[in-house]
Amino acid sequence: MKRAVCDAPSSAPQPLPMVWAEHIMRAWLSLILLLAGGFVASGDTVLRCSVCQSRISGQFLWYSAPALAEKQPVCEPCSKLDTKCAVCSLPVGNRGRKLDDGRWLCTKDFEAGIFSQAEALRIYEEARRDLQTILAGTGVLPGRNISVSLVDGTQLKKSNQAMPSEHEDRSLLGLTRTRVAPGRQFQHNIYLLSGLGRARLAAVAAHEYTHTWLHENVPVDRGLDRDAVEGFCELTAYKLMALRKEEVEKKVILANAYTRGQVNAFVQAEAAHTSNESSNGSRPASTRSCPRQTPSGNSHCAKTVQRQ
Ligand SMILES: [Zn+2]
Ligand SMILES: [Zn+2]
Repeated sequence: MKRAVCDAPSSAPQPLPMVWAEHIMRAWLSLILLLAGGFVASGDTVLRCSVCQSRISGQFLWYSAPALAEKQPVCEPCSKLDTKCAVCSLPVGNRGRKLDDGRWLCTKDFEAGIFSQAEALRIYEEARRDLQTILAGTGVLPGRNISVSLVDGTQLKKSNQAMPSEHEDRSLLGLTRTRVAPGRQFQHNIYLLSGLGRARLAAVAAHEYTHTWLHENVPVDRGLDRDAVEGFCELTAYKLMALRKEEVEKKVILANAYTRGQVNAFVQAEAAHTSNESSNGSRPASTRSCPRQTPSGNSHCAKTVQRQ
């Protein structure tokens, strides 16, 4: 990845908690009321509520969010449910599951969730293998000095609280801790949140692996600012999702307000760079500046419409 790192200055030495947060989905979900009659389905289409599966015959809402591949109809009673799925943000009905750490998941996301350490390790290893291609030629690629644990939200929160962090505990999806022994002997511990789907867990694994890469390759005295660090980690996660054609996860990463727009700037710079490279055949510069920008306004939403 040709060091898409900023000239900006470097992250503190280890041990340092590095977090990847998200939970933007809730922020994206606000309601917009539309005029009744804004939607009329064709006569032979049966519209069903995405939450309770009942046939919709009156007022309902369209929900959209970065984590949803397309907008989803939700009946009015379901739209009033208090609990929201921690993965897709849709309301959770009586068939949803509450995890021990307090998160709720809809049936679909519960069934797709990864709760097995062995499976999580497989997903991590696949992500690491692909990232080694993405990061090839850019310094030391950490390998065997990384231990990976799948943990629930309570354990992740506890690990995060053991060291100061700028992030809210509830938004954590992953965490990396690095210890450095004399002689620059690095030992990394990566914690991944259980219950995420395969693609999102791979994106979190990619993000956390990139922290280990940064710890080993960015000189301590560079003092990279937090947004640049997190934006770079998100960029590699984005590149992995792009490689795997995970369109929803790409959308989730770009919509993530967590890096305050840094990831969008990196992705745009990367795209512009790739385009220049292919048009003039020049080699990429080893570093480049990374403009800041505010998160794009790709807001959210659910809309109320009238089913005829
Ligand atoms: Zn419903
Ligand atoms: Zn869900």
